Amino acid sequence: MSFSITVLGCSATFATRERAASGYLVRFGDTSLWLDAGAGTWRNLLEHIDYQELDAVILTHRHPDHTTDVFQVHHAILYGQPQRLPKIPLWAPQDTVDRLRAFANVDDSFEMTAVGAGDEVNLGGAKISFHHMAHPVETVGVRIEYDGGVFAYTADTGPGGDLGNLAKGADLLICEATFQDGDGPWDGHMLASEAATAAVTNGVSHLVLSHLPSHRDLGLSLQQAHHGAHGVTIELAADGERYEVIG
Ligand SMILES: [Zn+2]
Ligand SMILES: [Zn+2]
Repeated sequence: MSFSITVLGCSATFATRERAASGYLVRFGDTSLWLDAGAGTWRNLLEHIDYQELDAVILTHRHPDHTTDVFQVHHAILYGQPQRLPKIPLWAPQDTVDRLRAFANVDDSFEMTAVGAGDEVNLGGAKISFHHMAHPVETVGVRIEYDGGVFAYTADTGPGGDLGNLAKGADLLICEATFQDGDGPWDGHMLASEAATAAVTNGVSHLVLSHLPSHRDLGLSLQQAHHGAHGVTIELAADGERYEVIG
């Protein structure tokens, strides 16, 4: 059994030359899930799988740096083959679903389901649960449990998000780390050091810092995360990087 995460994009707020905006390819068993669809992540997704292999999409919130490339797979399902492809599930908060519908006929390509904190869905033998995050718009963190492995993704959040239920005992936590010590205060995003605290508090063994700012020394983010987080493996996300949740 395999369970892996590939970074499709990890740049905060907009895509840069170095990084696409937020997105991840989650693979477990034969299942491929696109988790957040920020600008640039569609092109990067195609480096790893054929879009016809995509089984489902999750969007954590409606902000453009997590959503805009979803219209690429929408059109690929409708127009990419001589015959329209089967719909695939798309899970997102209600206001994200509403905005997508206002923009395009997404019900033609997706089985749209609104999800919120406390909801659970099953996909390909995995249990996927959604957790409240602290962000200016409705945002869900995503926890995926498969074959004994646990992956947690904070999406965008301040330290007041439900990080405990999201990340408890996770083998891999991808945590946003938009800011650095001395920034703020800002309750809708986290400092790299706060990401590390969340990892330590919740017994996470592997922390990947993501939603990285484009104009900062990221070595400093890593350094600040390492301070006081002994025993946790910490690294910076990078587009194309793949992490095994279970070997
Ligand atoms: Zn964002
Ligand atoms: Zn956001």
